[in-house]
Amino acid sequence: MAVNEPEMLAAIAASSTLEELEKLRVAYVGRNGLVTQQLKAVGKLPADQRAAAGQAANAMRARVDQTLAEREVVLRAEEVSKELAVPVDVTAPGLTPKLGHRHPVTMVLDDLVDLFWQMGYQVVEGPEVETEWYNFEALLVGKDHPARDTQDTFYLEEAHLPRTHTSAVQIRHMEKHRDNLPIRIVVPGKVYRNEDEDPRHSWTFYQLEGLVVDENIGLSDLKGTLETMVRGVLGDATELRLRPNYFPYTEPSVEMDATCANCHGSGRVENETCRLCYGTGWLELGGAGMVHPQVLQNVGIDSDKYSGFAFGFGPERIATIKYGVGDVREFWRPNFKFLEQF
Ligand SMILES: [Zn+2]
Repeated sequence: MAVNEPEMLAAIAASSTLEELEKLRVAYVGRNGLVTQQLKAVGKLPADQRAAAGQAANAMRARVDQTLAEREVVLRAEEVSKELAVPVDVTAPGLTPKLGHRHPVTMVLDDLVDLFWQMGYQVVEGPEVETEWYNFEALLVGKDHPARDTQDTFYLEEAHLPRTHTSAVQIRHMEKHRDNLPIRIVVPGKVYRNEDEDPRHSWTFYQLEGLVVDENIGLSDLKGTLETMVRGVLGDATELRLRPNYFPYTEPSVEMDATCANCHGSGRVENETCRLCYGTGWLELGGAGMVHPQVLQNVGIDSDKYSGFAFGFGPERIATIKYGVGDVREFWRPNFKFLEQF
């Protein structure tokens, strides 16, 4: 195909807008442009002609590129001066940008992280896709352990899974810092389970998990910490109750309840049964316990010398209590009418 260089350079010089210039750029040096085709054609020439033809085609490409670049500078400058020439009406009303705000669950999570930060905790994050070892086995939940049923989840290839709890991060952190104790961390993050959705359950949700490992750590330290936490987030009058429970990775294990934020523990509001706690006066918040000595040994920490406690709960649960939301799924629906209330 014949390529007329003077014609191309003249067309570039005559272009009057950036759009026009862009069309010429595509037509000449684009993937199927005239100059590009000329360059490609060099390879098909007899060997003794290739060097000279290649040099000529490359030189032409350089001249076309340069002319395009120079014309672009001129056209851009013209465009700017055109914009500046339009008079500005300084009396016209301004455009108020629509400002969003933090998501209610993020607000609760931030409050909690702040609270623990004030108590000297470090905030640690970890991967959302875990190995079975970190998610289950290091936490004493073997392949056939019944506790796996309660954390049924989705599996990926090669024994990986979306984490079912943030506890896996505790293991990773202890492994890394076992020679640098004490440990005081909180781990916020998303977790995934194969759950049927209902007003209190969702297949993806947030957790905030805490871990302390030091010498002479006892259950009383755990209780004091959780009390400070529930009062900080639900109000000073909130009482904490610990009930015995079972988790494979803590011994002893407890369930933590707080007095109901709606009826303040009485179970009744204006002579009606409280709808938040169903009249019990208590709200279940999450689980906790003393780290099982075997878990410490799994990561190479001397369990005769050191002990620790761990706890975990759901920020969504606390958000439903704090804001009086009846259905946890509301938080993750794209419903701006709902979200704008907060
Ligand atoms: Zn209540």
